[in-house]
Amino acid sequence: MSERRPSPFKTLLESDVCTLIQAAEDVYQVRFKNRGANAYLVRGSSRTILIDVGLSSNYPHLLTSLNHIEVKPDDIDMVVLSHEHLDHIGAAYHFHGHAFIAAHRLAANKIMLRDDFSMLRKMFNEPNVPINIDLWLEEGNLIDLGNFRLNVMHTPGHTSACITLFDQDKGLLFASDTLMPGGVMGGVFGSGSIADYIQSLERLKGLNSKILLSGHGRLSDTPQEDVRIGSSARMDCCRTPRNYSTRWMRERISSRSCSRCATSTSSTTDSSLRAPATCPP
Ligand SMILES: [Zn+2]
Repeated sequence: MSERRPSPFKTLLESDVCTLIQAAEDVYQVRFKNRGANAYLVRGSSRTILIDVGLSSNYPHLLTSLNHIEVKPDDIDMVVLSHEHLDHIGAAYHFHGHAFIAAHRLAANKIMLRDDFSMLRKMFNEPNVPINIDLWLEEGNLIDLGNFRLNVMHTPGHTSACITLFDQDKGLLFASDTLMPGGVMGGVFGSGSIADYIQSLERLKGLNSKILLSGHGRLSDTPQEDVRIGSSARMDCCRTPRNYSTRWMRERISSRSCSRCATSTSSTTDSSLRAPATCPP
Protein backbone atom coordinates (compact mmCIF):
# COMPACT_ATOMS: atom_id res chain seq x y z
CA MET A 1 0.00 0.00 0.00
CA SER A 2 1.33 3.44 -0.86
CA GLU A 3 2.18 5.99 1.82
CA ARG A 4 -0.57 8.43 2.50
CA ARG A 5 0.37 11.98 1.50
CA PRO A 6 0.34 14.74 4.14
CA SER A 7 -3.07 16.12 4.98
CA PRO A 8 -3.92 19.35 3.17
CA PHE A 9 -6.13 20.35 6.10
CA LYS A 10 -4.76 22.61 8.83
CA THR A 11 -4.83 21.54 12.48
CA LEU A 12 -5.82 24.45 14.69
CA LEU A 13 -5.91 22.84 18.14
CA GLU A 14 -4.86 19.49 19.54
CA SER A 15 -5.65 17.96 22.93
CA ASP A 16 -5.70 14.48 24.46
CA VAL A 17 -9.38 14.17 23.56
CA CYS A 18 -9.84 15.85 20.21
CA THR A 19 -8.35 17.75 17.31
CA LEU A 20 -9.79 20.86 15.70
CA ILE A 21 -9.16 20.93 11.97
CA GLN A 22 -10.13 23.48 9.34
CA ALA A 23 -11.90 21.70 6.47
CA ALA A 24 -12.65 24.76 4.36
CA GLU A 25 -13.27 28.43 4.93
CA ASP A 26 -15.72 28.65 7.86
CA VAL A 27 -15.99 24.85 8.10
CA TYR A 28 -14.35 23.00 10.97
CA GLN A 29 -14.03 19.39 12.06
CA VAL A 30 -13.81 18.45 15.74
CA ARG A 31 -12.34 14.98 15.58
CA PHE A 32 -12.57 13.03 18.80
CA LYS A 33 -9.95 10.47 19.71
CA ASN A 34 -12.34 8.38 21.79
CA ARG A 35 -15.50 6.71 20.47
CA GLY A 36 -17.31 9.98 19.88
CA ALA A 37 -18.16 10.75 16.27
CA ASN A 38 -16.83 13.83 14.53
CA ALA A 39 -18.65 17.12 15.00
CA TYR A 40 -18.66 19.79 12.29
CA LEU A 41 -19.19 23.51 12.61
CA VAL A 42 -20.38 25.40 9.54
CA ARG A 43 -20.29 29.15 10.11
CA GLY A 44 -22.54 30.67 7.49
CA SER A 45 -23.07 34.35 6.80
CA SER A 46 -26.60 34.21 8.23
CA ARG A 47 -26.72 31.00 10.30
CA THR A 48 -24.23 28.82 12.14
CA ILE A 49 -24.84 25.11 12.59
CA LEU A 50 -23.28 22.01 14.05
CA ILE A 51 -23.55 18.73 12.20
CA ASP A 52 -23.42 15.99 14.84
CA VAL A 53 -22.07 16.72 18.30
CA GLY A 54 -20.43 13.54 19.59
CA LEU A 55 -20.80 12.00 23.03
CA SER A 56 -22.15 13.93 25.97
CA SER A 57 -18.92 13.33 27.90
CA ASN A 58 -17.06 15.12 25.10
CA TYR A 59 -19.17 18.27 25.39
CA PRO A 60 -16.62 20.32 27.42
CA HIS A 61 -13.99 19.53 24.78
CA LEU A 62 -16.39 20.47 22.00
CA LEU A 63 -16.89 23.83 23.71
CA THR A 64 -13.13 24.31 24.04
CA SER A 65 -12.75 23.74 20.30
CA LEU A 66 -15.60 26.11 19.48
CA ASN A 67 -14.15 28.70 21.82
CA HIS A 68 -10.84 28.48 19.96
CA ILE A 69 -12.57 29.74 16.82
CA GLU A 70 -14.58 32.28 18.85
CA VAL A 71 -17.92 30.48 18.67
CA LYS A 72 -20.08 30.35 21.80
CA PRO A 73 -22.89 27.80 22.38
CA ASP A 74 -25.44 30.60 21.95
CA ASP A 75 -24.05 31.29 18.47
CA ILE A 76 -25.27 27.88 17.26
CA ASP A 77 -28.60 28.27 15.48
CA MET A 78 -29.19 24.62 14.70
CA VAL A 79 -27.75 21.18 15.45
CA VAL A 80 -28.31 18.71 12.62
CA LEU A 81 -28.08 15.05 13.63
CA SER A 82 -27.00 12.71 10.85
CA HIS A 83 -28.74 9.66 12.34
CA GLU A 84 -29.81 8.24 15.67
CA HIS A 85 -26.59 6.64 16.99
CA LEU A 86 -25.52 8.05 20.36
CA ASP A 87 -21.87 8.52 19.41
CA HIS A 88 -23.18 11.24 17.05
CA ILE A 89 -26.00 12.74 19.10
CA GLY A 90 -25.16 12.18 22.80
CA ALA A 91 -24.30 15.84 23.51
CA ALA A 92 -27.30 17.24 21.62
CA TYR A 93 -29.40 17.83 24.75
CA HIS A 94 -26.88 20.44 25.91
CA PHE A 95 -28.19 22.65 23.09
CA HIS A 96 -31.85 22.48 24.15
CA GLY A 97 -33.18 25.99 24.44
CA HIS A 98 -30.24 27.47 22.54
CA ALA A 99 -30.56 25.88 19.12
CA PHE A 100 -33.06 23.97 17.00
CA ILE A 101 -32.28 20.27 16.89
CA ALA A 102 -32.92 18.65 13.50
CA ALA A 103 -32.83 15.08 12.20
CA HIS A 104 -34.44 12.99 9.48
CA ARG A 105 -38.01 12.11 10.46
CA LEU A 106 -37.13 8.42 10.92
CA ALA A 107 -34.25 9.31 13.24
CA ALA A 108 -36.42 11.89 15.01
CA ASN A 109 -39.05 9.25 15.68
CA LYS A 110 -36.53 6.84 17.20
CA ILE A 111 -34.83 9.55 19.27
CA MET A 112 -38.09 11.03 20.58
CA LEU A 113 -39.37 7.54 21.46
CA ARG A 114 -36.06 6.87 23.25
CA ASP A 115 -35.52 3.71 21.25
CA ASP A 116 -32.42 2.51 23.10
CA PHE A 117 -31.80 -0.42 20.76
CA SER A 118 -31.71 1.80 17.67
CA MET A 119 -29.64 4.46 19.40
CA LEU A 120 -27.06 1.89 20.59
CA ARG A 121 -27.65 2.79 24.22
CA LYS A 122 -25.77 -0.23 25.55
CA MET A 123 -22.73 0.47 23.41
CA PHE A 124 -22.18 3.95 24.82
CA ASN A 125 -22.26 4.86 28.50
CA GLU A 126 -24.24 8.05 27.96
CA PRO A 127 -26.57 9.75 30.44
CA ASN A 128 -30.13 8.66 29.67
CA VAL A 129 -31.44 12.15 28.99
CA PRO A 130 -34.20 12.84 26.45
CA ILE A 131 -33.20 14.57 23.24
CA ASN A 132 -35.97 16.62 21.66
CA ILE A 133 -36.04 17.02 17.89
CA ASP A 134 -37.50 20.34 16.78
CA LEU A 135 -37.20 19.94 13.01
CA TRP A 136 -38.03 16.69 11.23
CA LEU A 137 -36.11 16.63 7.97
CA GLU A 138 -36.93 14.98 4.67
CA GLU A 139 -35.11 14.23 1.42
CA GLY A 140 -34.99 17.43 -0.62
CA ASN A 141 -34.96 19.92 2.25
CA LEU A 142 -32.49 22.77 1.90
CA ILE A 143 -30.61 24.29 4.85
CA ASP A 144 -29.68 27.82 3.80
CA LEU A 145 -26.92 29.39 5.89
CA GLY A 146 -26.41 32.37 3.60
CA ASN A 147 -23.15 31.46 1.91
CA PHE A 148 -23.71 27.70 2.39
CA ARG A 149 -26.67 25.81 0.97
CA LEU A 150 -26.87 22.27 2.30
CA ASN A 151 -29.11 19.83 0.48
CA VAL A 152 -30.60 17.12 2.67
CA MET A 153 -30.24 13.71 1.07
CA HIS A 154 -31.85 10.67 2.66
CA THR A 155 -29.11 8.03 2.35
CA PRO A 156 -30.30 4.97 4.26
CA GLY A 157 -28.29 1.79 4.62
CA HIS A 158 -26.13 2.17 7.73
CA THR A 159 -29.49 2.79 9.44
CA SER A 160 -32.86 3.61 7.92
CA ALA A 161 -32.55 7.25 8.95
CA CYS A 162 -29.13 8.40 7.72
CA ILE A 163 -28.86 11.71 5.96
CA THR A 164 -26.04 13.21 3.92
CA LEU A 165 -25.72 16.98 3.60
CA PHE A 166 -24.26 18.25 0.35
CA ASP A 167 -23.26 21.78 -0.62
CA GLN A 168 -23.19 21.62 -4.38
CA ASP A 169 -21.42 24.95 -4.95
CA LYS A 170 -18.59 24.23 -2.54
CA GLY A 171 -18.51 20.45 -3.07
CA LEU A 172 -18.81 19.70 0.65
CA LEU A 173 -20.11 16.19 1.34
CA PHE A 174 -21.13 15.55 4.96
CA ALA A 175 -21.67 11.81 4.62
CA SER A 176 -21.60 10.75 8.28
CA ASP A 177 -21.42 6.95 8.56
CA THR A 178 -22.50 6.27 4.97
CA LEU A 179 -19.01 6.83 3.62
CA MET A 180 -15.61 7.39 5.20
CA PRO A 181 -12.19 8.16 3.77
CA GLY A 182 -10.65 5.26 1.92
CA GLY A 183 -14.06 3.92 0.92
CA VAL A 184 -14.86 2.53 4.32
CA MET A 185 -18.51 2.17 5.22
CA GLY A 186 -20.07 2.23 8.63
CA GLY A 187 -21.67 -1.22 8.68
CA VAL A 188 -25.35 -2.11 8.56
CA PHE A 189 -27.22 -1.81 11.85
CA GLY A 190 -30.65 -3.05 12.97
CA SER A 191 -32.85 -0.73 10.94
CA GLY A 192 -30.39 -0.56 8.04
CA SER A 193 -30.52 -2.33 4.71
CA ILE A 194 -27.76 -3.55 2.44
CA ALA A 195 -29.87 -2.83 -0.65
CA ASP A 196 -30.52 0.73 0.50
CA TYR A 197 -26.82 1.14 1.28
CA ILE A 198 -25.87 0.29 -2.30
CA GLN A 199 -28.43 2.72 -3.66
CA SER A 200 -27.21 5.48 -1.35
CA LEU A 201 -23.60 5.01 -2.47
CA GLU A 202 -24.70 5.11 -6.10
CA ARG A 203 -26.29 8.50 -5.39
CA LEU A 204 -23.09 9.82 -3.79
CA LYS A 205 -21.13 8.67 -6.84
CA GLY A 206 -22.97 11.11 -9.05
CA LEU A 207 -22.15 14.21 -7.03
CA ASN A 208 -19.51 16.79 -7.80
CA SER A 209 -18.01 16.48 -4.33
CA LYS A 210 -14.63 17.95 -3.41
CA ILE A 211 -14.28 17.33 0.32
CA LEU A 212 -15.62 14.37 2.29
CA LEU A 213 -16.54 15.23 5.88
CA SER A 214 -17.55 11.94 7.43
CA GLY A 215 -18.72 10.78 10.81
CA HIS A 216 -15.46 9.17 11.82
CA GLY A 217 -11.85 9.54 10.82
CA ARG A 218 -9.98 12.14 8.85
CA LEU A 219 -11.14 14.59 6.24
CA SER A 220 -10.66 13.59 2.62
CA ASP A 221 -10.09 15.74 -0.46
CA THR A 222 -10.73 12.75 -2.74
CA PRO A 223 -14.41 11.97 -2.07
CA GLN A 224 -15.14 10.65 -5.55
CA GLU A 225 -12.29 8.19 -5.22
CA ASP A 226 -13.60 7.22 -1.78
CA VAL A 227 -17.06 6.52 -3.22
CA ARG A 228 -15.58 4.58 -6.11
CA ILE A 229 -13.56 2.37 -3.77
CA GLY A 230 -16.47 1.96 -1.39
CA SER A 231 -18.91 0.92 -4.08
CA SER A 232 -16.75 -1.23 -6.34
CA ALA A 233 -13.48 -2.35 -4.80
CA ARG A 234 -13.12 -5.69 -3.10
CA MET A 235 -11.76 -4.68 0.26
CA ASP A 236 -10.35 -7.05 2.83
CA CYS A 237 -13.69 -6.69 4.46
CA CYS A 238 -13.88 -10.19 5.88
CA ARG A 239 -11.09 -9.34 8.30
CA THR A 240 -13.13 -6.51 9.76
CA PRO A 241 -16.76 -7.58 9.65
CA ARG A 242 -18.14 -4.07 10.17
CA ASN A 243 -16.58 -2.82 6.94
CA TYR A 244 -18.36 -4.16 3.90
CA SER A 245 -17.66 -3.46 0.25
CA THR A 246 -20.75 -3.22 -1.91
CA ARG A 247 -19.46 -6.05 -4.07
CA TRP A 248 -19.43 -8.16 -0.92
CA MET A 249 -22.96 -6.93 -0.28
CA ARG A 250 -24.14 -7.68 -3.81
CA GLU A 251 -23.02 -11.28 -3.46
CA ARG A 252 -25.57 -11.59 -0.69
CA ILE A 253 -28.39 -9.98 -2.59
CA SER A 254 -31.02 -11.46 -4.84
CA SER A 255 -33.38 -9.72 -7.21
CA ARG A 256 -36.96 -9.64 -6.00
CA SER A 257 -40.01 -7.46 -6.45
CA CYS A 258 -40.48 -4.40 -4.33
CA SER A 259 -43.44 -4.79 -1.97
CA ARG A 260 -44.32 -1.12 -2.32
CA CYS A 261 -44.05 -0.37 -6.02
CA ALA A 262 -43.97 -3.93 -7.43
CA THR A 263 -41.03 -3.19 -9.72
CA SER A 264 -38.01 -5.44 -9.75
CA THR A 265 -35.53 -4.43 -7.10
CA SER A 266 -32.96 -5.89 -4.77
CA SER A 267 -33.28 -7.09 -1.26
CA THR A 268 -31.14 -9.04 1.13
CA THR A 269 -31.56 -12.79 1.10
CA ASP A 270 -31.38 -13.09 4.85
CA SER A 271 -33.93 -10.55 5.98
CA SER A 272 -37.48 -9.61 5.11
CA LEU A 273 -38.03 -7.82 1.82
CA ARG A 274 -37.59 -4.12 2.15
CA ALA A 275 -38.57 -1.59 -0.44
CA PRO A 276 -35.76 0.60 -1.72
CA ALA A 277 -35.54 4.08 -0.25
CA THR A 278 -37.03 5.61 -3.35
CA CYS A 279 -39.61 3.79 -5.41
CA PRO A 280 -40.28 4.97 -8.96
CA PRO A 281 -43.25 7.35 -9.06
ZN1 LIG B 1 -23.73 5.20 13.09
